[in-house]
Amino acid sequence: MEDKILKLLPYVSVPSRYTGKEINAVHKDIERCKVKIALCYPDLYELGMSSLGIRVIYGLLNEDKDVVCERVFSPAGDMEVLLKANNLPIFTLESKRPLKDFDIVGFSISSELNYTNVLNILSLADIPLLSSERREQDPIIIAGGNCIFNFAPLKPFIDCFVIGEGEEIILELVDVLKEIKGKGRGKILSGLASLEGVYVPLFPVEKVKKRFVKDFDNAYFPVRWLVPLTGIVHDRVSIEIMRGCGQGCFFCQAGSCWRPVRIRSVERIMDIAGHTYKNTGYEEFSLLSFSSGDHPQIEQIVDRLVGEFRDRKATISFPSIRIDTFSFQLATKIKEIKKTGLTFAPETGEALRMKIGKRIKDSELISLVQKAREGGWKQIKLYFMLGLPKEKDTDILDIAKLINELSRIMSIKAAFNIFIPKPHTIFERARFITEEEYLYKKALVVKNVRRSNRIKLNFHSYHMSCIETVIGRGDEALASVIKKVWEKGGKMENWDEYFRFSLWEESFREAELDMSLYLSEIPDGMSTPWQNITL
Ligand code: SF4
Repeated sequence: MEDKILKLLPYVSVPSRYTGKEINAVHKDIERCKVKIALCYPDLYELGMSSLGIRVIYGLLNEDKDVVCERVFSPAGDMEVLLKANNLPIFTLESKRPLKDFDIVGFSISSELNYTNVLNILSLADIPLLSSERREQDPIIIAGGNCIFNFAPLKPFIDCFVIGEGEEIILELVDVLKEIKGKGRGKILSGLASLEGVYVPLFPVEKVKKRFVKDFDNAYFPVRWLVPLTGIVHDRVSIEIMRGCGQGCFFCQAGSCWRPVRIRSVERIMDIAGHTYKNTGYEEFSLLSFSSGDHPQIEQIVDRLVGEFRDRKATISFPSIRIDTFSFQLATKIKEIKKTGLTFAPETGEALRMKIGKRIKDSELISLVQKAREGGWKQIKLYFMLGLPKEKDTDILDIAKLINELSRIMSIKAAFNIFIPKPHTIFERARFITEEEYLYKKALVVKNVRRSNRIKLNFHSYHMSCIETVIGRGDEALASVIKKVWEKGGKMENWDEYFRFSLWEESFREAELDMSLYLSEIPDGMSTPWQNITL
């Protein structure tokens, strides 16, 4: 099959997405491995390769000589057309084998809008979409990632869900496979169901508890960092210096699901930096966490990295620097820190901000932006949300006022998202605003922000947020809607240019389900599809 795939590459726009020949890619003799795993990220290569989770699981599994883990990403449209025209299945990058040759096909899912891509990959692999239709010889389909904190809408398609941090569970899963492989699909699934943090729909349980890495400092890190041969979204070494967030904003699912806060030590960070530098040739380290400035030794980390790598011309960056926690003294002192985007998410006006758990005042923000200006930054990106519970017109006027004031200090890019009530947050039962309300709020912003070439406003798609809400809080009944959307050609819906709201409207109608019910407030006392998951 490899020859046939290679012959297609000259006809696709980005062949390097499919070669599997990146520096540090692992090529094993697949026939000699007891357990074979195809690790899928259901979106384009450039996004999937920017996921630290994919890199960690890939590296960790391949450390075991008896296990082979190979990668799969959603093919771009041109490759999909060629695969179908040549009657070829989707393949893993490393050995170019069909997914059916693997024991496990594992999906890491970080967006609800990727669910149709999951079905598309299964279909391109010629694996039945429904668990109930899979045969003895089909791979076990596993899913984990952010979205799996409410797995109900995916239940009919997935054989086994992993709740929480994959690297904590994956080796136990492999042990089950090593022991039970060949004894029948039912026995394997029953073995997997016995693990904590795993939910197997065939063997339902009342409660499933999230797993998380307890010894984060010594947890596996993929120092043999894959170096892609094409540009990806985050093209550098990303060192996770901290996991979890202690801020507790009422709307934030990441904050509530990825607790507790765990810190990586300075020594371990230096060790990772040294090895990845040697193994990759990358000259940029990005220090990753929800809020790097919250790391108690952040100044020491930066000082040590700068000292160690100054002569080797390596730079340090933060994917985004949260202005409320970053030390500008440090930033101005150390010129080597790349002036990457300065960001802050005020979310809303000050009065409402205080009520949603984000306790920073406008005056503090303004003074920090002033210091940033003195430190050399010229632009800040601000994130706001419209439609938060109990939002009033005055809150929106406060947003406009803040943008106007900050724009006198530096250029502003203001991105407006729509509040999405997410499972496991304090606001999980709140309603999603109507389109009319959204348009009114948007107009209020536009009318009250001053006209200036120092201000750029950007508004996220109402309908995409609407579908994220519907699926994010959805129940098992939604599986039929997701399947219909995919059958009508819905895929790559995370991308504005491919997302089609009309497919969702049609599919809801055909499934005789009322979309508005999924958007309205969930009364206290009513059960939720995610209440079987404990964090
Ligand atoms: S919004 Fe940011 S600061 Fe607030 S809980 Fe989430 S990650 Fe933490």
